[in-house]
Amino acid sequence: MHSQVRPSLPKPFLIGGEWIHDTPTCLTSINPATGETNFEVCAATENHVDAAVTSAKAAFAAPLWQNMLPHQRAQRLSKIADIILSRGDDLARLQMIENGKVLSECKSQVTAAAAVFRFFAGACETLGSEITPSRGNYLCMTVYEPYGVVAAITPWNSPLTMEAQKIAPILASGNAVLLKPSEVTPSCAIELGRMALEAGIPPGILNVLPGGSEIGKALVNHSGIRMVSFTGGTASGRNIAKAAAERLIPVTLELGGKSPHIVFADANLDAAIDAVIVGIFEGTGQSCIAGSRLFAQRKALNQLLPILLERTRGLRIDLPDASGAQMGPLATFSHRERVESMVTAASKEGGEILAGGVRPTGQHLSKGAFYMPTIVAGLDNRATLAQQEVFGPVLCLLPFDEEEDLIAQANDSVFGLAAGIWTADYQRAWRVARALQSGTVWINTYKQASIAAPFGGFKESGIGREKGLQGIRTYQQAKAIYWGMSANFDGGFALKP
Ligand code: NAD
Repeated sequence: MHSQVRPSLPKPFLIGGEWIHDTPTCLTSINPATGETNFEVCAATENHVDAAVTSAKAAFAAPLWQNMLPHQRAQRLSKIADIILSRGDDLARLQMIENGKVLSECKSQVTAAAAVFRFFAGACETLGSEITPSRGNYLCMTVYEPYGVVAAITPWNSPLTMEAQKIAPILASGNAVLLKPSEVTPSCAIELGRMALEAGIPPGILNVLPGGSEIGKALVNHSGIRMVSFTGGTASGRNIAKAAAERLIPVTLELGGKSPHIVFADANLDAAIDAVIVGIFEGTGQSCIAGSRLFAQRKALNQLLPILLERTRGLRIDLPDASGAQMGPLATFSHRERVESMVTAASKEGGEILAGGVRPTGQHLSKGAFYMPTIVAGLDNRATLAQQEVFGPVLCLLPFDEEEDLIAQANDSVFGLAAGIWTADYQRAWRVARALQSGTVWINTYKQASIAAPFGGFKESGIGREKGLQGIRTYQQAKAIYWGMSANFDGGFALKP
C-alpha cells in the first residue's frame, strides 16, 4: 500500500484544523473494480501521531470545547448530518471507488451516517445525569464525563457508517478524537474531518491520520490517548486489547463474526431465502454480520436448495455503479486471493461447491477483484470454513434435524456477533433467540439496523457496545458526587466525630 511515488497533489490529512500536505510517504488508493489508481493520500508518521495528540489534548482542555454546552455540541452534530446529506452523491462515490461496494448501498450508507449524527445530537442534549438514593444526609449524584483524547480505528468495509458510528458519540460525549481510517479506504474519514470543521467543531477536536497498522499501534501506545475504540478483525482487536491492558486504558472492540442464519422447515421459505441471500452476498460478503453459516432444517432442504441456487446464480455481479448491480468486487486483490484460498482449502477438506467458487467470466470485470457468490455444502460445523471468518461471498450450508442440536452447533463458534432465525412458531423463535450467544438476533428478518439499538459482540466478536444510548455512555466515565447537607460533618465509618 505504501509508495514513494508522488503524483501531483496527494490528498492531505487533518491535524489541529491544519491540512498536512508534506509527508515522506503516501497511500495509494486503488479502485478494486478496475485495478486503476484513484489518487494518492498523504500517510501520517509517528511524529504526526504525536503532533495530533498534542493538538487534541490542547483543544480538549480549551474553554471553547469545555464550555460548549450539550445543546451547542448537538447543533454542530446536526450540522454535520446536513453537510453529509448535501454531499451525499460525492461521498457515496468516494466510498465506492475505494472499496467497490455497489453505489446503491453506498448511498444508503450516506443516509445512515447522517442519521447516526442526528441520533447522537438528540442524545447529547437530552441525556441527563442521575440523582441516586442516599444513605445519609447528603445528595448523591452520578455524572458522566468524557475520557479526553480517544483513538478511533476503523476497517475498510463500510467507512461511511463505521466512522460516523464512532465519531458522533465520541464528540457528543465531549471527547476529542484521533480517527485512523483503514489504509485501504482513507478518504471518507478525511471528508468527515472537513465537514466537522465546517460544522463548527473546534480545530484539534477531530483529527484524521491515514496510515497502516503501525499508525494504529502508535496511537494505542501513546500516553496521551485515554481510550481506544476499534472496529476490525479479531486478531488485530486482540493485539489492541493487550496493548491497552498494558496502559490500563479502556477499549471498545467491534470484531469479526461467523453468524448463523437458521431456517426451520415451517418458515416462510420464500422470504427466508431472500434474507439468506442478502445476509451473505450483500456487500460481497464483506460484512461483519454476514450470515455465513446457513443452518437449514433437513426436511426443508429439497424445497429450499433449488430456489437458493437459482437465486444465487441469478445475482447480477457488475461494476459497482452499473445500473442494477447487486454485487461489486472484493475490496482488494489480496483479499480476493485470501477468499479464493479459503474456498480451495474447503474443497480439499471435503466441501462441495454448489455455486460460484470462481471469478466471473465477463470481459469488463476481468480487471477487477470480482468473485462469484459461492455456496459450499458437505462440511460440518467443525470445518475450517464454518469456523473461520471468510469476509467474502461464501455461504457454508449446514443441514440440521433437531432444535437442540441446532442451538449447540450455532453456538459452537468463537464468534457471537449476529444470528437470524426463520420460523412460524413464535414460542420456538423466542426460545432459540434467547439461547443463541449473539449480540444481535433477527427473527423472521435479517440485517435490519436501528441506531437506537445497541450493537456489539458476544465472545470473540467484541467488547462493549456502539449505537443506542449505551453508545454514548461507552465514551464517558461515570463520576459519583456526594454533596453533604448537614451543618456538621457526619461522614466516616469507624472514626465518627
Ligand atoms: P483489520 O483488523 O486488519 O484492520 C482494521 C483497522 O485496524 C485498520 O485501520 C488497520 O490499519 C488497523 N490495525 C490493524 N492492526 C492494528 C494494531 N495491532 N493496532 C492498531 N491498529 C491496527 O481489519 P480489516 O481487514 O480492515 O476489516 C475486516 C475485519 O473487520 C473483519 O474481521 C470484520 O468482521 C471486522 N469488522 C467488524 C465490524 C463490527 O462492527 N463488529 C464491522 C466491520 C468490520
